[in-house]
Amino acid sequence: MARGGQVGDRGYSWGCKVSALSSPITTTIPVARPFIGAEEEQAVIDVLRSGWVTQGPRVSEFEEKFSSYIGCDHSVAVSSCTTALHLALLASGVGPGDEVICPSLSFIATANSIVHTGALPIFGDIDPSTFNLDPLRIEELITPRTKAILVVHQIGLPADMNRLLAIADKHGLVVIEDAACAIGSEYDGNLIGKPLGKMACFSFHPRKILTTGEGGMITTSDPVLAEKLRRRRQHAMSLSDVVRHNAKQIASETYDEVGFNFRMTDMQAAIGITQLGRLGDFLQRRRYLAMRYTKALLPLSWLQVPFVPSNCHHNYQSYMVRLLDGFALKRDALMQKLLEKKISTRRAIMAIHRELPYRSPHWNDSLPQTNLVSDTGLILPLFHQMTDADQDYVIESLYALQA
Ligand SMILES: *Cc1c(COP(=O)(O)O)cnc(C)c1O
Repeated sequence: MARGGQVGDRGYSWGCKVSALSSPITTTIPVARPFIGAEEEQAVIDVLRSGWVTQGPRVSEFEEKFSSYIGCDHSVAVSSCTTALHLALLASGVGPGDEVICPSLSFIATANSIVHTGALPIFGDIDPSTFNLDPLRIEELITPRTKAILVVHQIGLPADMNRLLAIADKHGLVVIEDAACAIGSEYDGNLIGKPLGKMACFSFHPRKILTTGEGGMITTSDPVLAEKLRRRRQHAMSLSDVVRHNAKQIASETYDEVGFNFRMTDMQAAIGITQLGRLGDFLQRRRYLAMRYTKALLPLSWLQVPFVPSNCHHNYQSYMVRLLDGFALKRDALMQKLLEKKISTRRAIMAIHRELPYRSPHWNDSLPQTNLVSDTGLILPLFHQMTDADQDYVIESLYALQA
């Protein structure tokens, strides 16, 4: 049913029935909302009652199930995608004096993870049709100090990996994938996370499709690297807690380097295992709603709907459109008008180089497409429980505002 209980009989040319504009909206339609059910609650209770709450058997199980879902060899669970990226960069030998190329059009954690290693983020401009790194703008950024490219699959759309990997190969650079938003997305027929680069890093923050509250995962096909990541995520301890706990003879660990506490808890992993079972449904619903948006919004000449290259399958972690010339309102004014209609939206992906720690006149001039997309992009509501009627209301509101 429509929000407010009425379904209007006016249909637009795209063929869906839409809820009447006048239908009273009582609660604001959020831009995103995690889906957490009774199974997740039970899974956490089971862990609490087991007596083993931090990284333990549920984390191992989540890692194994994640690997078999993705089709990768090794998955290493950590506390967030930010810590995943930090560990992945360090394990690739990135450190002080190095440069790492990444997009500015990304969540700030992408660049922060580079700074945490002591290296310098070098921002590459993006392709305004995909919101991902433009391979044509990479080589001009490479210097003798460049060590790696941190490629983001922004809002879940895979970046142009074949061309980016070719450039990295030619210059001997490591490629790490910031796949924070990209669970379930596919590139050349494989799920993102079957690493195209050396490692791929995922986020399980509630704003992403699969959530554990906070959490992250690193995938790799290199067993030596996986072992290194596992050690360093828990203080570089030579024996895991589980091994010590189950040892028949006293077992003492050593600490041969300076590690971190980047562990995931078993409560989080238990939620993750349950969410992984729901992922197929999540993806199906998101893709259905995204197709529906695209079909409905395509006739609006002032709006750019998502473009998906033919070798990619998008998970629509976010549904982002862009305002083109010919629309009377500026992006922020449109957002305000939509909020007054109880529709919550978000400005596009941020431009990291505009935030205080990263500001410089150089970046302002060298990232025109990033600035353009960041100023004109708009993320529309899309979440698992969103009804067709919710979506019709959003679509109808956009049509009404163009007048
Ligand atoms: C969300 C996000 C991150 C950070 O993930 P956390 O799990 O919150 O640390 C990093 N990169 C991108 C592109 C993101 O969208």
